[in-house]
Order: sequence, then C-alpha cells, then structure tokens
Amino acid sequence: MSTTGPAAHIDDIDEPMVDSFGRPLRDLRISVTDRCNFRCQYCMPKEVFGPAFAFLPRDAILTFEEIARIARITAELGVRKFRLTGGEPLLRAELHKLIEQLHAIPGAEVALTTNATLLASQAEQLAAAGLDRVTVSLDSLDDEVFRSMNDMNFPVAPVLEGIEVATAAGLGPIKVNAVVRKGVNDQTLVDLARHFRGTEHIVRFIEFMDVGSTNGWRLDEVIPSSELVGLIDAEFPLEPVDANYTGEVARRYRYRDGAGEIGFISSVTQPFCGACSRARISAEGQLFTCLFATEGTDLRAALREGASDEDLTALLRRVWGIRDDRYSALRSEATEDLPERPKIEMSYIGG
Ligand code: SAM
Ligand code: SF4
Ligand code: SF4
Repeated sequence: MSTTGPAAHIDDIDEPMVDSFGRPLRDLRISVTDRCNFRCQYCMPKEVFGPAFAFLPRDAILTFEEIARIARITAELGVRKFRLTGGEPLLRAELHKLIEQLHAIPGAEVALTTNATLLASQAEQLAAAGLDRVTVSLDSLDDEVFRSMNDMNFPVAPVLEGIEVATAAGLGPIKVNAVVRKGVNDQTLVDLARHFRGTEHIVRFIEFMDVGSTNGWRLDEVIPSSELVGLIDAEFPLEPVDANYTGEVARRYRYRDGAGEIGFISSVTQPFCGACSRARISAEGQLFTCLFATEGTDLRAALREGASDEDLTALLRRVWGIRDDRYSALRSEATEDLPERPKIEMSYIGG
C-alpha cells in the first residue's frame, strides 16, 4: 500500500475531474464528529438525539491521518477548500493537529464551521495551526430566543466572546450564519444585522432546510430570502454585490451607507445545484455527493482494507464522474410534492 507516493498520475491531475453535469469538485466538507453540545431543534432535536441515542464509537471515526490522506488526494483532484464541521467540530480532541495536517496540503484553504461555544478557548491554537477562516452559527442575539433554539439553555455571551477572540487571533472577518425559522427568530433578525453592521463580519441568513428526517420541517416555516432582503432593506438600505466566485451559495448585498456586507442563502427558494461543487465526508468516512443524498460511498472501508492512493483516486473519480445530484432544484420544480424518502441527518453529514 503506498501512502507517501504521488496521489494520482500526472494525466489524472491534468484532466479536470467533473461530474455528469460538468461540475468540478472544489469544496470538501469534513465532519470530524457526530456529537454536539447543542440540540438545535432544526438539526438535532432532543426527542431523537436524547440520552439513548447511539453516537459513533471512537474506532468508527476516521483518524486525523485518514482524513488528511483523503484530503490530500482530493486536493490533487481539484479541491480548493476543506471545511471542518460536525456535529460540533471543536468537541473533537486536538482538532488543531488535524488543521496542521490539512494546512500542509498545498493549494487548499482550511475553514471551520462552529457554534463557537468553545472558540474563545481554542481560537489562538487553531489560528497558529493554520486555520484560514471561521464561520460561526448564531441564530439570534436575543438571549431567550438563542437559549431556546439551541435547547441547552446556552447563553449568547460566550459565542460573542468566541467571535471577538477569534478576530483578535487573526481569524476574521467571520461569517455569522443564522438559520431563520418563521415565528421563532424572525423578529430578532434586524437586531442581528444591526449588531454586525459596521464591523468586518458578515451576517448570512439561511433558509430553514428540509435536511434529515427528524426536524419536522415544513415549507410554511421557511421565510424566503427575497422577503428577508426586504425586511433588512427597509431598515438599512441594501444594494446587490456580484458573487465572489462561481458557485458561491450566498447572495451578497452591501449596505448603501458603506457599513459592510450581508448575505442570504436561499437553498429552498433559489436552489444553487447548477454550480454545486461540494462533497461531504461523514465522521466515519462515508462520502456523500449531495447534502440530501440517501447513500454514501464507504471510504473508511477502502482505507482500512489497504487501498493505495491510486485506488482511492480511481474510486473518487468514479463516484464524482457519475454524480447527477440536484435535489434542491428538483424539489423546487416539484414544489411540495416530492415523495418522502429517508435523508441523512445534518449533524451526521455536517451541513
Ligand atoms: N455545529 C456546527 C455549527 O452549528 O456551526 C457545525 C455543524 S452544523 C450541522 C452546520 C450548519 O448547518 C450550521 O450553520 C447550522 O445552522 C446549519 N443547519 C443545521 N440544520 C439546518 C437546517 N435544517 N436548515 C438550515 N441550516 C441548518
Ligand atoms: Fe449542533 Fe450545529 Fe446541529 Fe446546532 S446546528 S445541533 S450546533 S451540529
Ligand atoms: Fe448541491 Fe445537493 Fe445542495 Fe443541490 S441539493 S446544492 S446538488 S448539495
């Protein structure tokens, strides 16, 4: 088994890897744990993820070396960004050591999505290890609303402290993601925008998605981004900004008075499957080519059965080559009538 030689033949690298719709693989989301210290009702409702829930045992989870090996091979196939996620990624012991290994891979940046409860204590170490950027999930600044949405009665203050410490450690500007649920936090969104206006940080409002099968998703709880743009624009006038790159998921706007930027992620009402260049790896090494996939490819088995780098490269090429996922676009074409089918949970696949 070769683990140190070149990950792919030169002709493979020269030949861009694209799926059946011509989409390249650019962005790899890596879940490092399926555990979390929150129980956001839209993601890990307590009724399902309670004390009896069987999380993955330690030996089922990919080691840092296994993750870094897959990451290095995907970088040779075109990946330009690794995003660590979970569950809550900062619960994974010594995450900075994985970041060091990913940072050493040429040509790709390393990002992290976190609920920031443990960010203040880890930010300096993460930055020193080579983390390039951080996205913080923060659904409301209203303490009562926030405590109820994370369903662990966890206050807002430590999250804001995490953002401050991470910024001081050089990890800013930070993207602040808020999932919007009608009747839950929509009345607090203008305050969230106001708080980060005039800072380098960028708030992004995310439409509540029908990921997984346990969060009781209903279309009538989704506030379309077009409505949210109107809501913010009425308070702080906005103008659209061009996308930073092809496939950017957030629609960008800036405040007309120069107080910074804000984004809207409209996965439900304006799907972006056409330019989707993302793949996801679960903590146990299942590769998914769509957030709404029903089946993955077992990379852990391949790794642990002694696959060479060439074998893994061929496997990834094969899986990506036949990819034809466009779940959100299909859902949107079918409006509410898509047949029910089991979906992978967000906390497992990592968002
Ligand atoms: N625990 C980390 C966090 O919350 O940032 C990382 C994992 S979490 C699954 C990744 C992202 O998915 C978070 O920003 C979260 O808000 C988002 N998310 C989870 N369930 C969602 C849903 N049903 N609709 C939209 N976004 C969701
Ligand atoms: Fe945990 Fe993140 Fe899911 Fe909330 S969204 S339950 S913080 S994994
Ligand atoms: Fe990509 Fe699947 Fe989401 Fe479409 S539904 S944008 S293919 S992850």
